[in-house]
Amino acid sequence: MTDSPLFRPIAARLIRRTIVLSALCVAVVLALQTWLLWQQHRQRLVEVVETVGSTHVPLLGVALWDIEPQAVQLQVRAIASWPEVGHVRVRAATGQVFEGGDASLAGAPHSHVVEISAPRGGPPVGQLELVADPAHLHSVVGRNALQMLMGYGVLVTALCVLIAVMLRRELQTPLESMARFAAELTPEQLTKPLQIERPTRQGRVDEIDVLADGISKLQAGLRGHIANLDDLVAERTEKLELLVEEIHRLSMTDALTGAYNRRTIDDRLPSEVERAHRYGRDLSVLFLDLDHFKQINDSHGHPVGDVVLRHMANCVRERLRSGVDWIARYGGEEFLVVLPETPLDSAVATAERLRERIAAELIVLDGGLNLSITASFGVTACREGDDSSTLLARADALLYEAKLAGRNRVASST
Ligand code: GH3
Ligand code: MG
Ligand code: MG
Repeated sequence: MTDSPLFRPIAARLIRRTIVLSALCVAVVLALQTWLLWQQHRQRLVEVVETVGSTHVPLLGVALWDIEPQAVQLQVRAIASWPEVGHVRVRAATGQVFEGGDASLAGAPHSHVVEISAPRGGPPVGQLELVADPAHLHSVVGRNALQMLMGYGVLVTALCVLIAVMLRRELQTPLESMARFAAELTPEQLTKPLQIERPTRQGRVDEIDVLADGISKLQAGLRGHIANLDDLVAERTEKLELLVEEIHRLSMTDALTGAYNRRTIDDRLPSEVERAHRYGRDLSVLFLDLDHFKQINDSHGHPVGDVVLRHMANCVRERLRSGVDWIARYGGEEFLVVLPETPLDSAVATAERLRERIAAELIVLDGGLNLSITASFGVTACREGDDSSTLLARADALLYEAKLAGRNRVASST
C-alpha cells in the first residue's frame, strides 16, 4: 500500500497544511501590523514636521524681517535636512520664494503651512510650506515590516520543525509500523507480537495504544479461531478416516456372514499365490460347501438359512489362525478358506477338523428349534505354474468330487 503512487503519509500532509496555514496567518498579521504601523508613522511624521517647522519659524521671522536672504536660505536648508521633511518652501511677503529639499514633492497635497510672524508682532512677513518625505515613511515602515517578517518567519519555521518532529515521532512512525505489521500479517505469523517504537508516556494511553491493543486482540481472536478450526478439522478428519476404514471394510466383507467377499478373493488371492511362488512358501486353499442347504431354506425359510450361514462362517473363522488364515464367501453357501504357510497335509487336517466341528455342532434357533448341518471340502495346495484361477478351479473340482462321493467329506490332491 505504501508503494502506491496515491499514498501520502498523514504526518507529511499535516505538516504541509500547518506550514501553509502558518504562512497565511503570518501574512494576515503582518499586513495588519504594517497598516497600523503605516498609520502610526504617518501621524508621527506630521507631528515631527510641525515641531520642526515651528522651531525654525521665529528664526525665519527675524531673517525675513531683516531682509537677509542668506539667513533665510540657511534656515530653509536646515529644515530640509531633517529626514522627515521632504520639501520646504518659504514665501516672503515681498514675493521672494526660497526652496529646499526634493523639488519633485513641491505642491504635494497635505502640505503643512505655517504663517511667519514678524519678530515683535505686526503683520506676517511670510509663509512656510512643509511637505513630509514619503520615502522616509516607506523606509521606516518597510524596515519594521521586514524585521517583523523575519521574526515571525523564524518563529513559524521553528514551530513547524518542532511540530514535524513531534508528528513524525508520535504519529507517522507508529502508524507506519502498524501498517507494515498489518500488511505482513499471515496466518503463520499470528503469534508474532506487534512492536511499535514510541516515546515513553508514563502510563498514559492514546488512540495508537488502543489501536495496537485492538490488533493484538484481533490476533488472539484469530489464533483461537484457527485453533478451533484445527481441532474441528482434526476431529472431522478422524471421523472421516474411521468412515473410510469402515467403508473399506464393508467393501471387502460380505454383509451377511462377516467373511471377506468375492472382491477380496480377487484382490488378495493372486498376491498370496505370487508370494508363495517367489519365496518358495506353502499355500493351501479349501473350498467348503454346505450339504443340502437348499432343504434348510425350503423347510425353515430363508431367514433361518441366513442364520445357518452366519453360524457356519463364525464357526470356521474361530478355528483359523488369526491374522494368517482368512475365509471368504465365494457365493451362496460356498466358502473359500486360504491357509498361507500351510502344506497340503496340514490343510487336509484343518479341513477334517472343521468338517467334524460343523457336523457336531447344533445350531439353536429361536423357538427351541435345533439344526445340524454338514459340509463337503475340496482341499489343494499351490503348485508350480498355478495362478489363483487354476488353484480355485482345482479346489472346486475336488469339492465336486467330495459331493459325488457322498458329501460330509474332504477330497484333496496337490
Ligand atoms: P448340495 O449338497 O449339492 O450342495 O446341495 P445344496 O442344496 O446345498 O446346493 P444348491 O446349490 O442346490 O443350493 C444352494 C442354495 O443356497 C440355493 C439358495 O437358495 C441358497 N442360498 C444361496 N445364497 C443364500 C443366502 O444368502 N441365504 C440363504 N438363506 N440361502 C441362500
Ligand atoms: Mg450346497
Ligand atoms: Mg453350493
